[in-house]
Amino acid sequence: MSQTARIAIIGGGICGLSLALNLHRHGIACTVFERAPEIKELGVGITLLPHAMREFTALGLQDELLKVGIENRESAFFNRFGQLIYKEPRGKFGGYPYPEVGIHRGKLHRILYDAAIARLGADAILTDHECVGVDQDDRGATIRFKDRASVTADVVIACDGINSALRKQFVPDDKIAFAGINTWRGITRRKPILDGRTYMRVGSIVTGKIVIYPIVDDIDGNGNQLINWMAEITQDTVGQNDWNKAGDLADFFDIYKDWKFDWLDVAQMIRDADQILEYPMVDKDPIPRWTFGRVTLAGDAAHPMYPRGSNGAAQSAIDARTLADFLASSADPRDALTSYETARREVTANVVRTNRAHPPDFINIKVEKLTGDQPFDNLDKYITQDELRALSENYKKVAGFAVSDVSHGKR
Ligand SMILES: Cc1cc2nc3c(=O)[nH]c(=O)nc-3n(C[C@H](O)[C@H](O)[C@H](O)COP(=O)(O)OP(=O)(O)OC[C@H]3O[C@@H](n4cnc5c(N)ncnc54)[C@H](O)[C@@H]3O)c2cc1C
Repeated sequence: MSQTARIAIIGGGICGLSLALNLHRHGIACTVFERAPEIKELGVGITLLPHAMREFTALGLQDELLKVGIENRESAFFNRFGQLIYKEPRGKFGGYPYPEVGIHRGKLHRILYDAAIARLGADAILTDHECVGVDQDDRGATIRFKDRASVTADVVIACDGINSALRKQFVPDDKIAFAGINTWRGITRRKPILDGRTYMRVGSIVTGKIVIYPIVDDIDGNGNQLINWMAEITQDTVGQNDWNKAGDLADFFDIYKDWKFDWLDVAQMIRDADQILEYPMVDKDPIPRWTFGRVTLAGDAAHPMYPRGSNGAAQSAIDARTLADFLASSADPRDALTSYETARREVTANVVRTNRAHPPDFINIKVEKLTGDQPFDNLDKYITQDELRALSENYKKVAGFAVSDVSHGKR
């Protein structure tokens, strides 16, 4: 690629910063324009599956991520009576070449931001730049910002998240899709649950579900962990999706008030939360095109998916690496954008559809149906462990994180 090509990245979230770091690896300059006036450690927990960790490891960040997150050993599925349905080893314990890590999203963001500043320089990562649109012609693209001078570039990568302003410009009838599930996400300080290294899915969306995993070890020097949990409940209506919206215990607690198992008092864990956020289970229908001349979409701007199945960050990081590789090998950066879209659009559309049709708690739903939503005495009477394992492996294949996919660096 021409060394003088000017690459502008709109949005300094997980995707935008990963892209900047990947371009830097190829010796390609870029500038990131982020709307927020400063980078704060926002959000709650996020899980980095092995295919996400493969990408962050290539950026030299594995050790730092492991230092502030928790390496999962197992994933376990329970019914709403707290009975174990199925468990399997995860990450390196499950034969992957990379770990699976539970981490605070804000800490992941901070690590990417600090690395980008250290490697690219502060001049390349600009905060307080809200993009409001792009104009383009044969000579280049002009990026317009709110209350700031315009900037020109050869290509513009829209990494501005699920409510992307640039996607809206090119896809005017773009809209959020809500399928009737709301979520409340919280973090609670408490003693480790089980071995302190387990990702737990309890109950099902049909009768009430909660996903629980630790994200910070020994938060206070007394051996307590920071535990992330996400309650999912069906609901008819939805408000605007805002990652920072505060949640109210009274809106969802009733379902969990009697969930007290011999290995965990779920109700108490929810009551003890430091912070609760509300976010609806929303995504967008896959679109037939991401690239519009000198502009392309990446990360959540391109393929917002349900915040379950732990794929949002992974797919964004893979977009970033794929795009940077094509930008490094194409004479004209516009060709790189179309090659990237060809490589990534259908793959990610498939993950969006899978998350809708075949959610990761399908194991819980299946067992709940088979047992008539009653406690079981012998689960093998209804379904065998081998059958459950096959269901789990199938989901991993579709979502692109079967052991063989991650090892071979599949796009
Ligand atoms: C505040 C916040 C909290 C989140 N919390 C969680 C969480 O707890 N768990 C979870 O699984 N996922 C969370 N996510 C979503 C998660 O980060 C993404 O799904 C995923 O990592 C894909 O990353 P992305 O970079 O495409 O999008 P995002 O991480 O959403 O990043 C988009 C970035 O673009 C910026 N931006 C938006 N509009 C403009 C504009 N017009 N001009 C310039 N910049 C713009 C945003 O400020 C943001 O930094 C959160 C996202 C945000 C923004």
